[in-house]
Amino acid sequence: MEFNLNKMIRTHLAGVKSYQTLRDSYIDKQAVYLDANESPFGEFNRYPDGDPIQLKKKLAEINLAKTENLFLGNGSDELIDLTMRIFCEPAEDSILIMNPSFVMYEIYAKMNNVKVEKLELNSDFELEKDKFLDTISTSQAKVLFLCSPNNPTGNSIDDLEFYIQNFNGIVVVDEAYIEFSPEDSAVKLLNKYPNLIVLKTLSKAFGMAGLRIGVGFASVEISSLFIKLKPPYNISSESQRLALEQLNQVEEIENNIAFILEEKEKLKKGLKQIKEIVKIYPSDANFFLIEFKDAQLIYQKLLEKSVLTSLRHPSLKNCLRISVGTAEENSELLKVLSEIN
Ligand code: PMP
Repeated sequence: MEFNLNKMIRTHLAGVKSYQTLRDSYIDKQAVYLDANESPFGEFNRYPDGDPIQLKKKLAEINLAKTENLFLGNGSDELIDLTMRIFCEPAEDSILIMNPSFVMYEIYAKMNNVKVEKLELNSDFELEKDKFLDTISTSQAKVLFLCSPNNPTGNSIDDLEFYIQNFNGIVVVDEAYIEFSPEDSAVKLLNKYPNLIVLKTLSKAFGMAGLRIGVGFASVEISSLFIKLKPPYNISSESQRLALEQLNQVEEIENNIAFILEEKEKLKKGLKQIKEIVKIYPSDANFFLIEFKDAQLIYQKLLEKSVLTSLRHPSLKNCLRISVGTAEENSELLKVLSEIN
């Protein structure tokens, strides 16, 4: 499919200049900094690196990507928002999302006055190719959001390449949970598809939700657009420093992922004993989507014991999404659930 990036970008953005700063060229140099109205005093007095090159290099290395294909957001949430602001004209354009999927696609679309078209997943929470082809034959959607493994269902989407190949617009593959999954990352498809954006995050498997770092991968042309149009210093200096420090201890992160996956299997065994549970859906992520006889009741009972779970998705009746915690947290969950039993 012929892809023309220039036709995708909102037309007025061609004339928008980004915030100009000298800092990125002087970041490691001794200089007299009188250009940014900072205080000359204090531990955090200087603005951070606007395009954190050291962090990007490390992330590129970990993800087998090139630094020039990478852009960072204040969480991948910010990159979802920016995607709409770059490609979708308010009150005119639409996005296409899977249903159910991550709720922020729709929330950001509403905030940006962008229309939302939905592709209903089947009873196994899979996309159906015929339905997809049928929908896109009449759809004008500019951006397709695919989430794999999908939040809140937990499953990976089969044959992602088919959808990337057949969609005449930008395709965002949100891989927030990919490190927990046996599937390959779509980052390796970047050379093949100029319409592809892959989103990852340090909030899940990397254990750095508090640092708010989202990672985008795309062609150099798309990456440059995000870097130009993002807020000037969107990753704080402490987040940059701490993330780099932790990413240098990749072994510890890998051990934590392995531990979470072991706990996930144990938790699943425990959950299978709970009579109030109707179904535990297959999951490639660090959470389970679980159907209960009465999810609202279970949710309340868990809350009474200060066990927080998620009952948020409107199209998933009687389902809770429950994260895998530490061995102690999982035992606490099972204990409360068996008491309800
Ligand atoms: N995508 C998906 C599928 C998510 O589940 C989340 C967080 N719940 C995000 C993106 C946003 O992650 P963050 O902003 O923390 O990077």
